[in-house]
Amino acid sequence: MSMTVTSIEAYYSIKKCSAQKCLEVRQYVEANPGSTNEDIAAALNMKIQSVTPRTRELKVNGLLWITGKGKTASGRNGYAMSSATCPNCMSTKLEVSREGEGMFGYYCYTCGHRFRARLSENSELEEVIDDVQ
Ligand SMILES: [Zn+2]
Repeated sequence: MSMTVTSIEAYYSIKKCSAQKCLEVRQYVEANPGSTNEDIAAALNMKIQSVTPRTRELKVNGLLWITGKGKTASGRNGYAMSSATCPNCMSTKLEVSREGEGMFGYYCYTCGHRFRARLSENSELEEVIDDVQ
């Protein structure tokens, strides 16, 4: 698959995901790194069943990373999610393209930095590779 095709696919998914609720979920996690699905549902007054498909889509597209485990308000364990973040300027305004299995390429709109991130099968952040020139 050529780079162009993957970039278009990634762009399309993000566009599709910019539906109002999805945008709200993304903005909430940007402002509250380490949020769990339950936290998001409680804060945005959404059903958990409406939150999980959106965080899943954002994770599949490399826009959200699982950065650890967190306790939800009700005391259960959940995955703590954070927005993909530029290691150079900490901005979350990023363009993402899938580069391969578990590998995503990022372009930072804020500082123009490019970097990559390796995510596990369930979107846990494994490594930020900050050597792209
Ligand atoms: Zn940046």
